[in-house]
Amino acid sequence: MQQEWLEEPIAKIKDPESRRVEKLEARLKVRSAIFFLGVVCLSLVVVVMWEGWNSRQYRLHDQKIAMSNLAQTLSSQAQASIKQADTVLFSLVDRLEIDGMGHDQLPRLQRLLIAQRNELAQLHGLFIHDEKGEWVASSSMVTPSTTNNSDREYFIFHREHPDRSPHIGPSIKSRTTGEWVIPVSRRINHPDGSFAGVVVATLYLDHFLRLYNSIDIGGDGVINLISADAKIVVRRPFSEAKVGSSVANGPLFTQLLPKGSSGTATVKSYVDGVERVVGFRRVDEYPLIIFAALNKDEVLASWRQESWLSAAIVSLLLGILGLLGYRLIRLMRQQNHIQNELLGTQDNLIEANRTLELLALEDALTGLANRRQFDLFIQAELGRAKRSQGNLALLMIDVDHFKRFNDQYGHLAGDECLRTIGAIIRENIKRPGDLAARYGGEEFAVVLPGTDYVGAFLVAEKIRRAVQQAGIEHNNSTEGTVTVSLGVSACNPTSQELPDDLIDASDKALYVAKTSGRNMSVIAN
Ligand code: GH3
Ligand code: MG
Ligand code: MG
Repeated sequence: MQQEWLEEPIAKIKDPESRRVEKLEARLKVRSAIFFLGVVCLSLVVVVMWEGWNSRQYRLHDQKIAMSNLAQTLSSQAQASIKQADTVLFSLVDRLEIDGMGHDQLPRLQRLLIAQRNELAQLHGLFIHDEKGEWVASSSMVTPSTTNNSDREYFIFHREHPDRSPHIGPSIKSRTTGEWVIPVSRRINHPDGSFAGVVVATLYLDHFLRLYNSIDIGGDGVINLISADAKIVVRRPFSEAKVGSSVANGPLFTQLLPKGSSGTATVKSYVDGVERVVGFRRVDEYPLIIFAALNKDEVLASWRQESWLSAAIVSLLLGILGLLGYRLIRLMRQQNHIQNELLGTQDNLIEANRTLELLALEDALTGLANRRQFDLFIQAELGRAKRSQGNLALLMIDVDHFKRFNDQYGHLAGDECLRTIGAIIRENIKRPGDLAARYGGEEFAVVLPGTDYVGAFLVAEKIRRAVQQAGIEHNNSTEGTVTVSLGVSACNPTSQELPDDLIDASDKALYVAKTSGRNMSVIAN
């Protein structure tokens, strides 16, 4: 029953379950903060990497377009330069096939060739060879030591191919001037269609190279003019050794040209192994391909620098964010720790409180309820009895001649005697609703809810007999052992009694028991 008085103040404090939930929530908050911080950092890294990747792709894409435009422009230039010379060749072939190459024609032919050559700046020379490769006429004033050109690639080509279209051979060193030239040639036929010779226009290689060198394509850019049979005609950067070499196995001929006559790509060079961003295009009308390429490393150099800078900035930001986040999380953890400690202290306080409450309600000597608890209890039980129209009985118990007992056996023996009587009383009230208390000194009280006079008297007698039967020696009393006297009172449901009235009644009955010879139970009248 005493639990009811104790639970009330403790109920104001949170129960362990809700505190456990609170602790879990606090831990969850810390985890959420860590998770959130992680997500923010990761997002930042992903966004920056994505941005970097995109800007890299844009840069490559832009340069591919630039190379494609350059290839387009250079192909037009090559086509126009060759076309001018080829137009001369075409009209020469026509004239030679009609008029023949007789000796009477030669002075006029020579003059014509010189006049035509002077018209075009890119033209190095014009040459006519007969079917054996011998010089028939040329725009050149000097005649080289070898006048037979039957060993030249273009001569062999035309002799063996009846094709009437122009042929552009690999660049050669002129036998007349020693300069690098590009031969553009056409076949001359006899009236029966058999091979009659070749007309050749040689174009200054330098005419192309100067243009190619004037274009800004970085330190390691490449511009190639390549013949359809994969031989290098002109190459920037220029190298004599590379002129005429074959790039048939390079990516241009194996991968790019099979897919289309123009385009862009990123490929590894067949010539020097460098990875480049390229644009290429076939030259209209002529068997040539123009190829313009930038070194990929050079294209991406500024991008790389920017990427390093943004990586450094992001790392710094991540560092700051991480540091702030770390401090925040540490703070949250500290807070949780402090809160846990506070809760722990609160637990201890509650426990201490409970002990104090118990101590405050318990008699230290006998372990029975003390006077304070008795007062609270009888007040509450009387109220309850009235509400439920029930009975309530009270026994007041007083040890007989206890002063003498103390005097004879000493105070400590007196205490021990009180403890024994307390235990006897406790043993003889079996109902859980009953309360035995030490009322004061050597006086005890028993509250018996739901009990009338008769029931209470029976309990009183049981206690009295039990004390007597305990046989605690008391030479200075009538019985020779310790005995008790009891006053019994009870209230009925209809009465308006107060606790004091009940106590008073029991006291009076007890007095009667004392004056009537002690060791007896008396019912209040
Ligand atoms: P009566 O039969 O009329 O009750 O006689 P009595 O001697 O018991 O009555 P009285 O009230 O004169 O004496 C009570 C004695 O109980 C006085 C006191 O020394 C003793 N006493 C009261 N409280 C304690 C206690 O806690 N321990 C001990 N040892 N003695 C106590
Ligand atoms: Mg007394
Ligand atoms: Mg007494």
